[in-house]
Amino acid sequence: MIYLDNAATTKPCAEAIQAAVSCMEKCYGNPSSLHNMGIESEKVIASVKKTILRRLNKEGEIYFTSGATESNNLAVFGAAKALKRRGNRIVTTAIEHPSVSEPMKKLAEEGFEVVSLKPCDYDNFEDALINAVDEKTILLSFMAVNNETGFITDSKKVYNAVKKRFPSCTVHLDGVQGFCKTQLFADLISLSAHKIYGIKGVGALYKAKPVRLLPNVYGGGQQGGMRSGTEPVELIAAFGAAVNAYPEKITKFSELRHTLLQHLEQWEGIILNSKNSVDNIVNFSVQGVRSEIMLHFLEEKGIYVSSGSACSRGKISPVLSALGVSDKNADSAVRVSFSLNNTENDIKELVLALSEGIKRFRR
Ligand code: PMP
Repeated sequence: MIYLDNAATTKPCAEAIQAAVSCMEKCYGNPSSLHNMGIESEKVIASVKKTILRRLNKEGEIYFTSGATESNNLAVFGAAKALKRRGNRIVTTAIEHPSVSEPMKKLAEEGFEVVSLKPCDYDNFEDALINAVDEKTILLSFMAVNNETGFITDSKKVYNAVKKRFPSCTVHLDGVQGFCKTQLFADLISLSAHKIYGIKGVGALYKAKPVRLLPNVYGGGQQGGMRSGTEPVELIAAFGAAVNAYPEKITKFSELRHTLLQHLEQWEGIILNSKNSVDNIVNFSVQGVRSEIMLHFLEEKGIYVSSGSACSRGKISPVLSALGVSDKNADSAVRVSFSLNNTENDIKELVLALSEGIKRFRR
């Protein structure tokens, strides 16, 4: 089996599994309990917060959530609610994950003015985002790395420029696909454990101290009232272990990408949809073969890839269109995403299978 769908999710690493099991066996107290068992659990949480802040190279607060979908909802709704007396203008992009774009739709229905920018309309997308923010803008929300093509938006450039001009504009970054791979800059940053070899069901929201945010979930007041609910200590422990195990520098992704592209470039009718993108995501269209046909053909050979994005299964992706991919090419888009476990041999097998698929199915 060759797993090349790591932008959808990754296999938990041994360190994460070990941390979760050890927690379940030895450290299962409720972190809110006042006795020693509770204190031990609380210590685990505090230590993982430190680990994540260190990796982000930031000071501030970490709130654990059920995943980045919840982190994004908390950031977008939480900031909008907290800041609505100051204004109602929000800037975002047309390539956001549904966990940002759907909350944005809701806010627009509630009367917020939501301005959404498409990268395909601009030569320099960072400048476009910076220029779209004005004194009435309360929130800018964008993603560091797009999950469908790997498209990068330089958060350092955008964040610094926006904060210099409009310090009171809150900047939120969906950092899911960028965390541990690129430096992330924002007031609020959404993270997910299962994209970095942690376990599904836990994520985090980083918040810079002075930023105002209101909760979405009410209950027992855990995590300073920002996110009520008993913290999943074992998942959090695994998240921390995954972050610690993630290497500081990776050359493997660029090597695997290079090998794949070398082959694809020699073939007729292949369109590369990943431009200005991270090394671990390669999205390309095999003209004349529909995505799903190719995906299932590869699956029969034990090779797992994605058609566009696993989150928009079955639909033509509006995200690919906003990135300048035609509907026809989007219909035949294949997304290959690497993990640290993949090898050159995996790419060779993929290339062989792709060429066979093209011969068999191209019309
Ligand atoms: N944002 C991006 C960019 C993603 O790729 C994903 C996962 N596909 C999410 C948010 C949602 O993360 P989670 O699965 O942890 O809810």
